[in-house]
Amino acid sequence: MEPIIKIENLSKSYHQGESELRVLKNISLEVMNGDYLAILGPSGSGKSTLMNVIGCMDRFQEGEYCLTGCAVGQLNDAQLTRLRNEKIGFIFQKYHLIQKYSVLLNTMMPLLIRGIPRKHAEELSMEKLNMLGMNDRVGHKPNELSGGQQQRAAIARALVGTPELLLADEPTGALDRATGQEVLKLFGELNSMGNTIVMITHDLSVAQHAKRIVHIIDGELYEDGQEEQAGEKELPDKALVQKGESDENQEIPLEKPSMPGRRYTAHGRHFVARAGQFRAGVGSKDTGQSHAAGEHKLHQ
Ligand code: ADP
Ligand code: MG
Repeated sequence: MEPIIKIENLSKSYHQGESELRVLKNISLEVMNGDYLAILGPSGSGKSTLMNVIGCMDRFQEGEYCLTGCAVGQLNDAQLTRLRNEKIGFIFQKYHLIQKYSVLLNTMMPLLIRGIPRKHAEELSMEKLNMLGMNDRVGHKPNELSGGQQQRAAIARALVGTPELLLADEPTGALDRATGQEVLKLFGELNSMGNTIVMITHDLSVAQHAKRIVHIIDGELYEDGQEEQAGEKELPDKALVQKGESDENQEIPLEKPSMPGRRYTAHGRHFVARAGQFRAGVGSKDTGQSHAAGEHKLHQ
């Protein structure tokens, strides 16, 4: 089966005058149909940059990215816009609803952009809004709704065009804890219904709702192994990324891995940085050291 996302050795740099800042470094990632992946990393690690690349909102210099088999790097701007509209449903931290439009019209927007007739767009939108328990709020403007309701409206908008990928950037970041939990429960249900989800977060407790976690550190990806999925309960409270409401609050002392082959340790597991592939292991057999909860450091 063709992966939904296939990224191979992708790198992206920002240029400022003479200097070059390499923000994504030789990233490889596959996401299959039905996956629920969290990309977890501290502030400044490259999460938003990667989200913009995955979401076809930004370009990259090196490597390959295929979205549902379509080579993104070769598309022009109009083709990218179309691919984005058809393949991806976006969910943002701050909802990104258009304030002057009703919930219904906001939800219809991806379909109207696609050229679907208004009446049909309205029917499809009402279907999603009903499913999300928003049917009695469809005429309201976003500023008349709670944060949780606004995020539900945004999720209805993300789902309405039946995209192949739901791409969420800190989807609970602006919500109180209880409402955030409701949104995460909803994500679990949407995934059970067959939706593929990629969620970007700095919060380990949010990431743990996903079926699979990939760490991003200083622009490099480190993937947890199957041990991670089997042993979710082993994860200590204090871990690589601490809990917090806002990305800006995160200040994580971290030595940064840069060389393939170096080992990085976080919450009792170590990750081996390799060009183009990632391995994870549990325990400390080969170093003889015990990895304390929350410890994260590099082994030379
Ligand atoms: P995160 O979302 O994980 O906080 P970002 O992807 O926003 O991280 O940023 C990663 C790095 O890239 C940071 O060092 C940031 O300063 C830099 N960066 C992000 N956007 C730009 C840009 N448009 N121009 C130059 N540097 C940028
Ligand atoms: Mg960010």
